Amino acid sequence: MKNIAILGATGSIGLNTLDVISRHPDRFKVFAVSAKSDWETLHKICIKHLPSFAVLVDEAAAESLRKVVPAGVEVLCGNSALDDIASHQKTDFIMAAIVGAAGLSSTFCAAQAGKRIMLANKESLVLGGSLLMRLAKKSGAEIIPVDSEHSAIFQCLQGGKEGLNKIQLTASGGPFLNTPLEKLSSATPTEACNHPNWKMGKKISVDSATMMNKGLEVIEANFLFGLASNQIEVVVHPQSIVHSFVYFDDGSVLSQLGLPDMRSAISYAMSYPGRLQSGVKQLDLTKESSLEFHPPDMKKFKCLELAYKAMSEGKSAPGTLNAANEVAVDAFLNNRVGFLDIPKIIAKTLNEAPSQNLDTLEGVVENDQLSRQIALSFVGSSD
Ligand code: NAD
Ligand code: MG
Repeated sequence: MKNIAILGATGSIGLNTLDVISRHPDRFKVFAVSAKSDWETLHKICIKHLPSFAVLVDEAAAESLRKVVPAGVEVLCGNSALDDIASHQKTDFIMAAIVGAAGLSSTFCAAQAGKRIMLANKESLVLGGSLLMRLAKKSGAEIIPVDSEHSAIFQCLQGGKEGLNKIQLTASGGPFLNTPLEKLSSATPTEACNHPNWKMGKKISVDSATMMNKGLEVIEANFLFGLASNQIEVVVHPQSIVHSFVYFDDGSVLSQLGLPDMRSAISYAMSYPGRLQSGVKQLDLTKESSLEFHPPDMKKFKCLELAYKAMSEGKSAPGTLNAANEVAVDAFLNNRVGFLDIPKIIAKTLNEAPSQNLDTLEGVVENDQLSRQIALSFVGSSD
């Protein structure tokens, strides 16, 4: 029996993880769950799964949950409690499914404690990738990607990396794939969050619309698989059936296919190196429309170009890119800036923030905070 701590249990990845766990009560136990403030959803989860711990970051929300929680579930509160459940002696696996840099600390704690990290929170790799990979190597922690493209590549590399030439991450292109650039200035948060293939949280939905999601994923792949930047390409594939490609020197190309349902990647991270029933329907290619592949339009999707630039610069640049993106996306979702201001804010922040080596978690956090301040100063300022 494996005890799982789900960090970000009330979100899209968290709820899909609970669905997979429910199908295998003989193999997995929900040991701990967390959310920022959504205590009502966490309450429902507690009733169904009876975890030992339920954590809420927000104090008032924790108080509300305490009044109604079933016996045997201990309610904890605050950011340090996230670290505690991630590194708890009884935790075997964590699902790192908090959105944004808020997931950094608990992911690092799990890495330090040598846990299996099922990593959905790509931002922690973008922010502190080399540090996190080093820490995991030292402690023996396993980092199993949950991002569908990285799970695909991870699955294709089970035979080893010998003769690996390059990888190609597939991108749906998001809701604005066919929208002309001049119309994007008036794009609304509702339009940006209306993803054609995947049901996801708001932040990653906007990231998909700007294609920053793919940019973050390029950096994620750089750290996860130890590849050079010129070995990581992006190809637009609107149907989201092929989840990425691995090219080998002998001309062979491996890929993993499946319907766009995150439970495939989640269950693989849980069962690796084996496989589990995940609840995902079988793919029938005879029933799919034709599969298309196009090069990405870097002029229209400036965020992707900025991510490649930050990856080449290295040092603190990926962390700065991520922080500026979180600030800009939040401002967009709150109608404070337009859709096309997102790449502008990120570009200005990358220009202004100092480039520095980040050798400690404290350094990573300081750079994140400084970059946020710089990005915030550009929110609302005109060109
Ligand atoms: P979501 O918005 O649906 O859920 C986020 C979860 O994190 C919620 O449980 C929320 O309570 C918690 N949370 C938010 N802010 C927090 C904070 N400051 N402190 C502590 N907890 C906080 O997001 P999601 O779509 O499930 O995405 C989660 C992560 O997985 C992201 O990093 C995203 O990039 C990645 N991811 C998601 C998908 C997907 O299909 N949704 C696919 C690949 C990768
Ligand atoms: Mg992805």
